[in-house]
Amino acid sequence: MPRALSAGEVLRVWEAGADQHPLDRALTLLSAAEPRAARAELAALSVAERDARLLRMRAAMLGPTLSAFAACPRCGERLEFTLRTDELTAGSRAADGPWETAAGGVSLRFRLPDSRDLAAAARSGSVDAARRVLGARCVLAAWNDAGPVDAGALSEDALTALAAAMGEVAPEAEVSLSLGCPACGGAWESLLDVADFFWTELSARARRVMQDVHVLARAYHWSEAEILALSPGRRRAYLEMAEG
Ligand SMILES: [Zn+2]
Repeated sequence: MPRALSAGEVLRVWEAGADQHPLDRALTLLSAAEPRAARAELAALSVAERDARLLRMRAAMLGPTLSAFAACPRCGERLEFTLRTDELTAGSRAADGPWETAAGGVSLRFRLPDSRDLAAAARSGSVDAARRVLGARCVLAAWNDAGPVDAGALSEDALTALAAAMGEVAPEAEVSLSLGCPACGGAWESLLDVADFFWTELSARARRVMQDVHVLARAYHWSEAEILALSPGRRRAYLEMAEG
């Protein structure tokens, strides 16, 4: 279990990640919980493994229950639902690989995308180009009856099969939720972006910490460092006195 972040660490992570690309931000979150791991090492984790670790970190910090909202695409009704981090990581299989799949007469040996692959895909400009970039980077070998095939020039069929096979070995890389609307009976699938969800929660936590610092600094004229050094229990007790 990763350790929970202190109030001061929450602020440091929030400050460091605020202007970062979501992919870098996810690594900033992870390295706060795993300070001994080099950033390059974390960037080389498959995104599925990254998200499983982020969920464990989230559980250590804020508990295992996620509360999320979604709007019904048919009638606009707002649904609130809860998920458990352990259920989201339960489908996680040891991400060793490489794996193989085949489509349209072409066989592929592939690994799962990591943060560097996704960064390269994000720079490619279109969904189509991104799929090709991921194919070229994550396919370790491609071949048909006649011999080796260029991994950078795979057919649409092969790229589709690759995406499906990646989703199968790492289902948590894209947490898909089946939702139903009680108002109109509509049903739809929604995707949960684990890193983005956790970042939003951490930002809210950072704002609460700063609010606490604000109240206590005004009441007692303590410095930010002094207030952040208080244990959570003492901070709460002084807050109650300052506000009461
Ligand atoms: Zn509805």
